Amino acid sequence: MPPSVPAPAAWTPADAEALYHMAAWGEGFFGVNDSGHVCVRPDPRTDARIDLAAVVDEVVAGGLSLPAVIRFQDVLATRVRALNGAFAQATAEAGYGGGYTSVYPVKVNQLREVVDEIVEAGREFNCGIECGSKAELVATLPRLESDDTLCLVNGYKDAAMLRLILTFQRLGRRVLPIVEKVSELEQILALADEAGQEPAFGIRVKLAAVAPGPWTRSGGSLSKFGVSLPELVALADRLIEEGRPQALKLLHFHLGSQIGDVGALKAGVREIARVYAGLVRRGLRPEFLDVGGGLGVNYEALPLGSGASGVDYSVQEYANAVVYAAKEVCDAEQVPEPRLITENGRAVTAHHSVLVVDVLGATQKPTVPDDFELPASAHAVAAELDALRQSVPQAGGLGELLEVLHDANEARGKAQALFQYGYLDLDAAALTERLYWAVCRRIHDRVEAAAPEWTPPELDALGDALADQLLCDFSVFQSLMDHWALGQRFPIAPIARLERVPERRARLVDITCDSDGEVARFVSPEGERRALDVHALPDGVPTEPYRLGVFLVGAYQDILGDAHNLFGGVSEAHVYLDDDEPSGYYVEETLKGTTVEEMLARVQYFPSDLQARVQSLVREKARAGVVRQKEAQAILSDYRAFFQQTTYLDPR
Ligand SMILES: *Cc1c(COP(=O)(O)O)cnc(C)c1O
Repeated sequence: MPPSVPAPAAWTPADAEALYHMAAWGEGFFGVNDSGHVCVRPDPRTDARIDLAAVVDEVVAGGLSLPAVIRFQDVLATRVRALNGAFAQATAEAGYGGGYTSVYPVKVNQLREVVDEIVEAGREFNCGIECGSKAELVATLPRLESDDTLCLVNGYKDAAMLRLILTFQRLGRRVLPIVEKVSELEQILALADEAGQEPAFGIRVKLAAVAPGPWTRSGGSLSKFGVSLPELVALADRLIEEGRPQALKLLHFHLGSQIGDVGALKAGVREIARVYAGLVRRGLRPEFLDVGGGLGVNYEALPLGSGASGVDYSVQEYANAVVYAAKEVCDAEQVPEPRLITENGRAVTAHHSVLVVDVLGATQKPTVPDDFELPASAHAVAAELDALRQSVPQAGGLGELLEVLHDANEARGKAQALFQYGYLDLDAAALTERLYWAVCRRIHDRVEAAAPEWTPPELDALGDALADQLLCDFSVFQSLMDHWALGQRFPIAPIARLERVPERRARLVDITCDSDGEVARFVSPEGERRALDVHALPDGVPTEPYRLGVFLVGAYQDILGDAHNLFGGVSEAHVYLDDDEPSGYYVEETLKGTTVEEMLARVQYFPSDLQARVQSLVREKARAGVVRQKEAQAILSDYRAFFQQTTYLDPR
């Protein structure tokens, strides 16, 4: 059951925040202001709030089209500080002397301005960067802040990449290749010998520890990454034999993203710390223990400590888990405390961007008005459904309501069969459909009003079945890939009109021609919800813009997006706090979404050819007198104009 919506008169911004569970998933960044607009508080050190709806109005007035990703750059800095602050507190409390460095894995969001913001905020903590592919390496190496900035290179590497890494080591940069398999190490040693330099590297270790969740195979013995313990031991012996025990600088593991259980992380940290201690005993001296990423984001809006599957711990608990587990093993083994590294990407970037989409229209289940009178000529099956509709107010309890629903389902089935065999005409079939939904609506309203402690699932499901469909101007495949691929839920809310009670519930459908292009799972601490609370659109069409914000989309979604149906990249606006501005912010940059021309070029269609074809068609038709010359010219220029448009619809 949804949380009960208060009476309109008493409705406040706090009620809107509660309805959309903003406190639970928002980490303090999101709220609703007195105008009923979603507002963003990017920096908890100040009270400054940015009105999201005002930002969108401003960039749209400036010519940007929706959908758009609105980035709140200050949120990135806040997250970097929160992470480093939590580790500073944990190491101080635990008396952990090894220190801590956070490293940003660029694969989570490679956008230059995102990386720049994180690097800048991380300067005071000397944060590092992690990259995992050839292109990421090429982009990252020239942009390291100083010789002290750590750069970790994960993933598989070819000889050219290893050579480049070694070259940057020779230049004095702190770039460490993380060895994923034994043959890579052979290559590093050979290339370093060739260049006459001492190599430095880390090793990813395959641990027994695994974290449950969608990315569980990032860890454990089945992982495609890392070297096994027997391989590691042989490797360590070899380094000692060759007289270069100092070459191994770092031990790494990564349990996967969205670690749901801090206990699993502690197990991993203990395990790698034991490996570390064993290597120290053998005469090696790794400086760093790198426990990977995986700090979760509370997309599901779970209360802290709810114990449900998902993420219900704080950043501080995460930091404490890492630090205390490492400390415990180092104390027990009496080895020096290594510097701890985490590679958190999702938790640093997820909150900073919001996808804003226009609602193009709403479709409701067709019903009949409350005072509907059945014509005397109506078919018996329509009369049957109408009688059921009339009987709902008299039904005694949940059991009787369920019986009415079963009878209505049966009558509807009968009507469908009669229609198939020609005993019911089109008008009559349409009427029975409307009556059926009217019965369901009445049953649903009674169940809602009674608000029972437990609702039979069939009655509970009526809310979903009766939900409206909102057509939204975006592509799930371009903008919410993890919703499609993994069923991950993202918090969604209207960005304005929240001074009024949202009176309807809806599923969202996108504009792709793919029935998977929908959002029908929504955030709720009470478990699965299949419809979102939204405002009614008179006649199903927005008379003024009605916009939804999809929150926490800053991690992975930007780059995972694909070109299904040739919907391209969305527009972007980058927003900064600024107390000199009356609005409290300024929009630093706007970027137009991918144009039709750019999308077509990706699949080898070019304007010259396409336009020449349309030109010869209209010329021929003008010659034949189908259209006049002037009209032919207008058709051609209309067609040409499309190439510079974005791939989404224009609701105006
Ligand atoms: C993807 C990845 C990360 C980032 O994980 P998050 O869950 O986003 O923090 C960190 N380290 C490695 C090796 C990765 O592959």
